[in-house]
Amino acid sequence: MADNILISTGSGFEGYEILDYKGFISSQALLGSNFLSGIASTVSDVSEKDMAKLEKCRETAAQRLLKLAEKKEANAIVGLKMTYTSLDGGSFGVVMTGNAVVIKKKIVVDNSIHKELYVTNYYTGQIPRPVKVIIDGTKDDIDMKVQCYNYNNEEILSIRTDLEFTNLYDERLLVKNVDFAFEKANISLIESSYIQSQLSANDIQLLKDVKVTVTKYVTPRGIIVCGDTPVNVDMSYKRLQSLKAKRGIDAVARYRTDGMIWTCNCGHVNEAGLEECIICGRKQKDIMVKASFDYESMIAEMREKEYVIEIKDVLMGHLKEIDTKYRMPLLEIMESGLQYEKTRGNMKDSVIEKVEKLFEEDSEE
Ligand SMILES: [Zn+2]
Repeated sequence: MADNILISTGSGFEGYEILDYKGFISSQALLGSNFLSGIASTVSDVSEKDMAKLEKCRETAAQRLLKLAEKKEANAIVGLKMTYTSLDGGSFGVVMTGNAVVIKKKIVVDNSIHKELYVTNYYTGQIPRPVKVIIDGTKDDIDMKVQCYNYNNEEILSIRTDLEFTNLYDERLLVKNVDFAFEKANISLIESSYIQSQLSANDIQLLKDVKVTVTKYVTPRGIIVCGDTPVNVDMSYKRLQSLKAKRGIDAVARYRTDGMIWTCNCGHVNEAGLEECIICGRKQKDIMVKASFDYESMIAEMREKEYVIEIKDVLMGHLKEIDTKYRMPLLEIMESGLQYEKTRGNMKDSVIEKVEKLFEEDSEE
């Protein structure tokens, strides 16, 4: 038991805090009077024998001190001191003193911060397109950098931006005129150097996304004022995330076409005759989804409903247009939704999410 007691000659222990002081304690152990007579023998012999005796004496004193600490319900001794004393009659002793304390391991608070925020607005023109804001640092020193997609055929040296952060409460935080410099100017995906962030650690924890509006940018040709208004991404964060994972970090829209025009994954709307997107160069045939059924408009219709029974009606209205391989799984989603709704309350969101997932997993292969 006493072995678990920590001893320090200092005032505390690194990584621990003292919770309670239990009082001053002292112990002693005596060497017999023959200790001194031993010194009279040969030097090497004496020291070896006496060292062993001394060690034993010290050990005894220490054990006594530990017992006292234990009695006081302490788990550590700080300020340990040991002194040798000679007593009348020629005997010799060791005295140990210290303070019995209760210590506890400090909880190490991990204050490192790392956050990656997708940018939820974009340009359809050849303007450096911010795609991700990365925040790094510790509680007291927070930096951020931006990743951009550059569709231009020239290097981007820096961008001036307005940043609009949104947190989980849908509150907005606007930071204007933030400059990012690109040390390794490049084309395609470029990353800025870190700059100091004015956001607090608490604010950062709650952030969910960011809009980045480029007001000016610098290329080797000079400063270009950017008058374009960016377009907002029109899908949930989760869907944006999965789209980016499958189609690249600059992807902000699903491919769609009405025969006259087609919307590229980069968000640019191209004329039907164009095989390649004029902004990002994606080929239409590569990004065309296999399922021709426009499930997104069916899901939009479902969102307007309240209960699974109504959502099922929407599905039944479209069932004939839907590829046969989807029909059974869709009906199963509806049936289980109806069942759960009887006992667990409204299942609308969960049912729609499952329908979405079914089509997405297939069309985004
Ligand atoms: Zn494109």
